[in-house]
Amino acid sequence: MAESGCERELELALEDMNLEMPNGLRHVLFHTGTCRKDVYRSMWGSLMFIGKLKTGGVRTLVYPEEIREAVRRRFGDRPPQAGAYDRQYVDQGYHVSLEELVGAKWRGPPKTCKLCN
Ligand SMILES: [Zn+2]
Repeated sequence: MAESGCERELELALEDMNLEMPNGLRHVLFHTGTCRKDVYRSMWGSLMFIGKLKTGGVRTLVYPEEIREAVRRRFGDRPPQAGAYDRQYVDQGYHVSLEELVGAKWRGPPKTCKLCN
């Protein structure tokens, strides 16, 4: 399986926390979409509808910095311009932890993904 630097780095960060990257999460983060927005959109859908993340009705998700950095690096975007959250977003959003992300139910990657198979 081809693996990029940003992917390996996130995997190591998760390993440090004794977490293992689900294949479905890996697929969404590193194999889908053509820009950060695409990735966040499909991650949002996966977490809200498949993972049934309990956010107490909050529909805005704030992702952990490790995830945000991995997605930025994948597309060669640099902070702070790239995807800096504004204050209101951070204050009103639901902060998803890495544990929640990894523990959520993920749809398995499609057989058609050459990177996953
Ligand atoms: Zn894949």
